[in-house]
Amino acid sequence: MGSRIDDTTVPLVICEVCLKRVAKDMTRQAETPNYVAYFCSDKCWDRWHAQHGANPGTA
Ligand SMILES: [Zn+2]
Repeated sequence: MGSRIDDTTVPLVICEVCLKRVAKDMTRQAETPNYVAYFCSDKCWDRWHAQHGANPGTA
């Protein structure tokens, strides 16, 4: 039951910014206190950090 993706064995995640489906291996990730956010590109990653004001923590 339910839909199944046969095209790929790679798990898909949704970009936190543009909501595009991307292969998990291709994403950048940001850990928040509540969840892990995924991003399709550096551009989305930068935008998310600009909006949330969160730094990765590496100075
Ligand atoms: Zn994106």
